[in-house]
Amino acid sequence: MNTKLFTAPLSDAEYDAAAEIIRSGGLLGIPTETVYGLGADALNETACRQIYEAKGRPQDNPLIIHIPDESWLPRYCRDIPPAAYALARAFWPGPLTMILPKQEIVPLRTTGGLPTVGVRCPNHPVTLEIIRRAGVPIAAPSGNTSGRPSPTTAGHMVEDMWGKIDGIVDGGPCGVGVESTIIDLTCTPPRLLRPGGLPLEALEEILGEVAVDKAVVSKLADGERPKAPGMKYRHYAPKAPVTVVTGDPVQSAAYIQDHLTPGAGVICFHEFTGLFDGHIVHDLGHALDKAEQARHVFDALRAFDETNVPEIWAQCPDSGGLGLAVGNRLKKAAGFHVIEV
Ligand code: AMP
Ligand code: MG
Repeated sequence: MNTKLFTAPLSDAEYDAAAEIIRSGGLLGIPTETVYGLGADALNETACRQIYEAKGRPQDNPLIIHIPDESWLPRYCRDIPPAAYALARAFWPGPLTMILPKQEIVPLRTTGGLPTVGVRCPNHPVTLEIIRRAGVPIAAPSGNTSGRPSPTTAGHMVEDMWGKIDGIVDGGPCGVGVESTIIDLTCTPPRLLRPGGLPLEALEEILGEVAVDKAVVSKLADGERPKAPGMKYRHYAPKAPVTVVTGDPVQSAAYIQDHLTPGAGVICFHEFTGLFDGHIVHDLGHALDKAEQARHVFDALRAFDETNVPEIWAQCPDSGGLGLAVGNRLKKAAGFHVIEV
């Protein structure tokens, strides 16, 4: 298949061509502020099936649908609580996905067979314009091949999807760099299913009490089912085994220095890159700048796939603010192999 590359800013004709790919049942790589998505018409079952095929994604792992503003919510969701509108007003467009009961019109193929649907309004002007012109919600999981780190540049999308999909829209590098935060509003109290680009603390300011799903902080036992089906897969995993070290940054850096083997790769905070001469080192960002770490985490994991390092050691931020999402992505890559110093 010929993949067409659209580069922002798009002309009027290019916007129409991109929207036409969606409307005609094709697959389009789309930029968002979180990560790049692999988009298709969320109401078209055949198109959604092709998303699963292109990614090699398990069929029970539901897709998030993307809408241009909250006025589209009742078209695709029912029993919408006031809290959903309060969250939309506070955080949309932005990195927040809400789980709500689905309307009949949303195919079970899109929701992985679930009676609920994940909805979000992405904060990217190019993608919002494409959705508006297409006139349908865009179902889009992260645009990586299943099992690879999520794409945060159009180049990553090209690596995974060139020749397999109809088009890729290059809207620049993602500003947030980790996927959306997922909140389930079908239960009381609302439950955080996946930490992401919107901190838990921000949700608590609007919602009060928020429960945190076990899959966010620990490895599930064999056969245990998380409420966000995607959380059971060992995403984002580089080929080499990863060990995550948490705790005070000076101490975690010293621990890694003491324990790493020759040739091991390191993901560390900016301040400590000089400690690991002779190793392949990826800079996660400054120790106190979690937004910078979120932008770098997938790139660091993806970069190690092109190397033959026998093992990877990673420093990890504390779980405040965006640290919960950065730590979750690192720990999932490590199969929750974590050392606390
Ligand atoms: P991705 O877009 O690749 O980050 O994957 C979407 C994530 O949203 C997966 O982890 C899904 O399990 C989760 N998700 C989507 N829809 C639902 C839903 N209706 N209920 C629970 N989790 C969902
Ligand atoms: Mg994904």
